[in-house]
Amino acid sequence: MEHLTEELQCARGAEIVRESLASRFYGEKYAGCPVPGSREAWQQLPLLTRAEIYERSYPHSTDMLTRPLEDAIIISTGGSSGIARYTTYTHAEWDAFVTCQAAAMRILGITRQDRVANLFIAGHFWPSFLGLHDCIKKLGAVHLPISANIPMEEVVKLCRTFEPTVMVSLPTLFVFMADMAKRDGFSFPGLRMINYAGEHLSAAAEAHVAAALGVSHIKAGAYTSADVGIMGYQCDHCGPGTYHVPTAFQFVELVNFEENRAARIGEMGEVVVTNLSRVSTPIIRYRVGDLAAWTGSPCPCGDPNPCLKLGGRAGQDFKLGGGFISLDLFENAIAAHPDCFSLNFQLEIEDVASQFTVVLRIEAPSQPDRATLAALERDLFEAVPELKISTEKGYLKSFVIEAVELGSLPRSPITGKVARLVDRRVL
Ligand SMILES: [Zn+2]
Repeated sequence: MEHLTEELQCARGAEIVRESLASRFYGEKYAGCPVPGSREAWQQLPLLTRAEIYERSYPHSTDMLTRPLEDAIIISTGGSSGIARYTTYTHAEWDAFVTCQAAAMRILGITRQDRVANLFIAGHFWPSFLGLHDCIKKLGAVHLPISANIPMEEVVKLCRTFEPTVMVSLPTLFVFMADMAKRDGFSFPGLRMINYAGEHLSAAAEAHVAAALGVSHIKAGAYTSADVGIMGYQCDHCGPGTYHVPTAFQFVELVNFEENRAARIGEMGEVVVTNLSRVSTPIIRYRVGDLAAWTGSPCPCGDPNPCLKLGGRAGQDFKLGGGFISLDLFENAIAAHPDCFSLNFQLEIEDVASQFTVVLRIEAPSQPDRATLAALERDLFEAVPELKISTEKGYLKSFVIEAVELGSLPRSPITGKVARLVDRRVL
């Protein structure tokens, strides 16, 4: 992967700042700010927040665009509270992005000899399917554009016919496929690697997918953000959560905001990123919201791009009876019953008068018997004391576990993810 020194990154960053002034947003934001000419001046440049990007997302606003929109692609970046957000890339900028992403996949060991099953959802402006198409083309591998828009039985059938060596998709899909393989007894003899993106894959889920699909190479795609693209890639020497930074593509800074300075080697800082290839909608010093530390040691793979280790990226937490509870506790309890339940589940919390109810819906290969449901409930009340306390205090009206058919929990039609937490309480 191409490497830029910090000095060159600052110089390239300064060019982007100069060009950004053509947009209404940056023109106003940087009014009176000289274009940074040094590392120190760069660090004084105001940060970009998520709210600033969201308030100016296309097509509602064109304030971040430095030029008329042409020769470009519009993609969805997700967004929260059900409001879709979009951003724009020129075709050349998109190409720079997929070139970097393809280089990361090459480092994972995907080659021309591979047949890659693209199992992302296409449509709705969602970029994964299209991006992977371009990456596979750059790798020279064979593309099997199966998608996840079709029923899982069809996906399995096509994969059995076309024998991919690599499958790329979301953890939700791989967990479902593994559940089916275990129930129906099929396998993919040629499959040697699974590459996942878009969600966290827990250790329990990874073990399940590896065993059921008979594949030992299960790799995280990359460290990415929907707003800026790939920020980290892994070589064979990178442990979990450790990534090389593609310095020619992204300028990643780790900042200690308490002392308003760059984080030292080994010290946790907030990730601040500048995309060095996007000029039409510049993303400059964007505060991503993740924490990471530079490892500071050269990687045995010989790649000069520095490594960071992500930290504090906790799973999804929610409030129950005064404490914050991690959804991982639920997953771990469910994982203790691997023959009875899938790891695709959904927790729904609802207000009922002055109390609340909790329903845990879990996909299952068959309806479990009462003893199994009771055992899981017992495990959960042990793992999550707040359930017990809330029951005793009369806040928790009911806690119900429902086993539902494999694949039946609602998936997002855009991304294919199962929402693990549906909190209907009025907070
Ligand atoms: Zn390395």
